[in-house]
Amino acid sequence: MTCDDIRDLIEPWAAGDGSPSTEAAAHLRACASCQEALAIATEIERALAGADTVPIPSRFTDRVARAARRERSINRELGDAIFHAAMSGALVIAGVAVWLSLASSGVDLSSLPLAAISLAAAAAWLAWLWSGNETLTQR
Ligand SMILES: [Zn+2]
Repeated sequence: MTCDDIRDLIEPWAAGDGSPSTEAAAHLRACASCQEALAIATEIERALAGADTVPIPSRFTDRVARAARRERSINRELGDAIFHAAMSGALVIAGVAVWLSLASSGVDLSSLPLAAISLAAAAAWLAWLWSGNETLTQR
C-alpha cells in the first residue's frame, strides 16, 4: 500500500467510518507521514464534534426556495408592468403624432367618428393588458 492509498482512507477512519485493514495498519506503523495525517484528521474530527452547531429549523430549505421563487415572480411582474406602461405610452404618442400630422396636412378630421375610434382603441389596449396578465398567472 502506498501513502496515496492511505490518504484516501484517513478521513473516513478519523470520522469513525471503518478501520484500517491489516495491510493499511502495517503501513501506518511504518510511515510517520501517514501517522501524522491520521492524527491531524482525528483532531479535526474531535474539534468538529465538540463545536456548537446551530439547529436548522424544519422545512428551512422549503421556505427559502419558496421565498426566492416569490421574489423572482414579483420582479417579473414588475418588469411586465413597466413594459406595458412603456408600450401604452408609445401607442398614445404615436396616435397623437398621426393625428397632428394629418391635421397639419389639411385633412378634415372633424367628420371622423372620434368616440368610436377612441372606444375601440381603449378596448384593444385593455384586451392587450389583460392578455399580458393572463400569461403572468400561467407561469
Ligand atoms: Zn504513508
